[in-house]
Amino acid sequence: YKTLGFIGLGVMGEPMCNNLVRKSGLPVHIFDMNADAVGRVAANGGKAEASAADVGAKADVVFLSLPSIDQVEPVARALAGGARKPAMIVDMSTSDVARSRALAAELKARGVAFVDAPVARTAEAALKGTLLISVGGSVAQYEELKPLLSCMGSDVLHCGDTGCGQVVKILNNMMVFMTVNALSEVLTIGRRAGMDGERLFELLAGGSADSFALRNHGMKSLVKDSFPEKVFPMVYAIKDASLALSLAKAGSFQPKIASYTYNLMCQAHDAGIVNNYHPAIVQLVDGRITPKQDVKP
Ligand code: NAD
Repeated sequence: YKTLGFIGLGVMGEPMCNNLVRKSGLPVHIFDMNADAVGRVAANGGKAEASAADVGAKADVVFLSLPSIDQVEPVARALAGGARKPAMIVDMSTSDVARSRALAAELKARGVAFVDAPVARTAEAALKGTLLISVGGSVAQYEELKPLLSCMGSDVLHCGDTGCGQVVKILNNMMVFMTVNALSEVLTIGRRAGMDGERLFELLAGGSADSFALRNHGMKSLVKDSFPEKVFPMVYAIKDASLALSLAKAGSFQPKIASYTYNLMCQAHDAGIVNNYHPAIVQLVDGRITPKQDVKP
């Protein structure tokens, strides 16, 4: 591949694209509806384009970091619509599995490969190039993409065929949301039983209840009541949880813990937690904010 493209220069995409420009040594054609973001990445060496179609006309491999499949579908179709098409589109957004697989089949018929490579970890990891990237596609596609994805992530893992990268990413996040919900309950019970929250989590981290979510979401956010904006906001967390429920439904399975957690997240959103970091759900769990209606599993 001689030329690259990147569309979607948001909280994650901008630092990811900057790393790709810096480390790949290849020209990277860029587009976002937000001209300011395009300007910033262009100042770092990205090649500004006026539309997705223009990126498609110049790049061999195009990376997407868009809000959801609702944006991925039209952008991918615009990329594949011109006389000169990219050979491959790599969706790094967190996207619906069934719609990703359908889009991959549609694009394949038009001669364009579509690979899913959603990212886990934080905006800081995007900046440092230490994301965890879950790839869904053939082994050959994974091997081809690995050097480019390694510009953005420190762990680039092959999960299985098309869509499997999304399955792993979506279930990782659902597991985190359910754990954050459980940690919120444990923290509330512990505090009301006379324990200092920080000490409780410190002690739990030394025992069999230890987990990544306890050490990070629990110790850095929940006990400190620190829920900044622009760090995985509740609105995106709800999108990801709904993707997990769609996945369960497609497999004719009605999950109880995931459904309860999803409902609770929607209640928190209704109560005003929209752009804050998603562990702010503890405020609903411990009764500081009130749900508008009963939450049923
Ligand atoms: P964001 O909203 O900050 O960025 C999305 C970007 O896409 C924006 O710059 C927007 O202008 C652009 N965009 C939207 N529609 C477009 C279109 N039609 N054409 C061109 N540009 C368009 O979102 P983000 O936080 O960077 O997240 C991107 C993806 O990564 C999401 O799928 C999210 O679920 C996932 N993700 C986010 C995080 C996080 O911590 N923020 C972590 C892991 C994964």
